[in-house]
Amino acid sequence: MRLLILLSIFLQIANTQRSRMMRRSTEILRDLDFSEIVYSVHIDNVGSLIARAEESNNRIKELREPSEFKSIVGTFPRYDEVVAWMNETSQLYPDLASTFSIGYTVLGRPMQILKLGLNGGNKWRVWMDAGVHAREWLAPTTAIYIADQLIQGYVNSDPEVLNYLSFLDFEILAVANPDGYEFCFTDDRLWRKNRRPITTDCTGVDLNRNFGFEWGGVGASANPCDNTYMGPYAESEREVLNIINHVLPESQKYIWYMAYHTWGELFFTRWDYTSDVPPDHVERLDLAQRTVNAINQVNGEIYLAGTAPELMYAFSGSSSDWSRGTANINYPYLVELRDSDGSYGFVAPPEEIIPCGAENWAGAKIILNDIIANYGGTTPP
Ligand SMILES: [Zn+2]
Repeated sequence: MRLLILLSIFLQIANTQRSRMMRRSTEILRDLDFSEIVYSVHIDNVGSLIARAEESNNRIKELREPSEFKSIVGTFPRYDEVVAWMNETSQLYPDLASTFSIGYTVLGRPMQILKLGLNGGNKWRVWMDAGVHAREWLAPTTAIYIADQLIQGYVNSDPEVLNYLSFLDFEILAVANPDGYEFCFTDDRLWRKNRRPITTDCTGVDLNRNFGFEWGGVGASANPCDNTYMGPYAESEREVLNIINHVLPESQKYIWYMAYHTWGELFFTRWDYTSDVPPDHVERLDLAQRTVNAINQVNGEIYLAGTAPELMYAFSGSSSDWSRGTANINYPYLVELRDSDGSYGFVAPPEEIIPCGAENWAGAKIILNDIIANYGGTTPP
């Protein structure tokens, strides 16, 4: 009961003004979320949020112009719609786009990548993954939005986008946990983990606790029934292994590893597992700060830059820490997208998709411009 009162006080603060005080409320909500208390408190609210978001999503899908090419931008698509959109994009623009699967999930779904880039050859690469946590639906839609900006820039011969596409190959895993993502549509909108049966009672591993770098430490649970279950051993999950087996053999070609999550409006530099920072922290934080400044200018949303232990809480076995600690990728980032105060938390209404995508496309361009400024004229080993 005391928790409930505390939560409602902080929610009221959160609803009246954005301030440091409100950021504190975010921290409390995150802590509650982390300990899984938040759902026992929020349950009625979440139920109606889910119903409203679902209704709105269906309406937007119905209103779309019937056309041969079905854009999924602006909706929460089912996984087969994502795969179909990737396939159609590659058929429409064969010089720009191709698709491939990096392997299968536990339930046999392909983990489909959309690759975007021009001219071929030995090029630097950008990796983007989204939806490692199934319920964080604004993450796949943001990756899809950014992919679509690259596609539209190519179609419209935007010189800035053509420059990105000529210099870099983008590999976009828009739904990194397809089994969990689909389970959100069919059974439980707030499912987080993958769908591997672990015990008779408990299913699923938290894929963002299962990567092998600093696996099994802070912020990860050894209890299979917990939402942050780290798995029986490091890299035990197919979804994680598929990413690792794809990226690691040629990791020297990847400049930027970007992981999209929700929520909190936080842009994390390394590390997630400790408050220590890597030697290049000042440069990485500076770029993160410039990125959130650009994000903030689009719609006025105030994202913060810093490490996870500083702004939220520490966690181990993340893909972002792995991308730096093991794969040695130079620009390793994780963003917690909208919202900031948990008004809708994981259950964003579809009206948030475009603004969230647009502000994070502006942020992505800051990083892309920095990559070109530092790596332009070079080719990977
Ligand atoms: Zn997440």
